[in-house]
Amino acid sequence: MPLIIVTGWPTSGKTTRAKQLHDYLAKRVTDSNYRLHYISDDTLSISRTVYDLSANPAHTRSANASEKDARAAIYGAVKRVLTSKDIVVLDSPNYIKGWRYQLHCEAKAVRTPSCILQIGCSKDQAKQVNDKRLERRAKGEDQLEGEEPYEEGNWENLVFRYEEPNPMTRWDSPLFAVVWDDNEEQTKKIFDDLWETIAGSGRKVIRPNQ
Ligand code: ADP
Ligand code: MG
Repeated sequence: MPLIIVTGWPTSGKTTRAKQLHDYLAKRVTDSNYRLHYISDDTLSISRTVYDLSANPAHTRSANASEKDARAAIYGAVKRVLTSKDIVVLDSPNYIKGWRYQLHCEAKAVRTPSCILQIGCSKDQAKQVNDKRLERRAKGEDQLEGEEPYEEGNWENLVFRYEEPNPMTRWDSPLFAVVWDDNEEQTKKIFDDLWETIAGSGRKVIRPNQ
């Protein structure tokens, strides 16, 4: 079964929505043959600093090696569990289109669909969340797992580098979008739609030459 690629700006609510989707799917898979998995930067202990280009001078070979390593770890984790009977919710920035393409190809290789769940929110809202987390860290307050802040430059840079999904491309479709203000009812509608498309009776059959 499918690979659900969650994507969005830093601190836009990806983990919040990915967990809501996971809870939703957990109920739906009970009367199906599917197994459910949740993979995230946090479950793989990938630090926010791997995305920080300023942490390493751009000209050194190690500049993006850490991000490459992170992607290799994510790829390995997805590959280990993804089959036509496994649903994988992948909660990570997934902001590079070439990377989403690679994940899409991996799903296709195991003859299972992939889709994108884009988390939308305003820049101000997302930034506020990060600023609050930075503040909490500065005060020495405890950070919950998954609530590590991004350094300010890293955050800005990730927003700048973000490659918006394009539903006209194979690898960014089908595309589902949840925005910050979507209430429970609206969110459920989107999740129902997602389920129908990738797991329901209308599910597309994946052929290797497609
Ligand atoms: P990300 O995984 O993208 O870094 P998080 O899911 O950790 O973002 O969310 C950041 C914060 O914003 C969390 O504290 C969460 O409670 C809050 N949040 C996320 N989405 C929403 C939303 N739709 N409405 C209100 N608060 C939200
Ligand atoms: Mg997160």
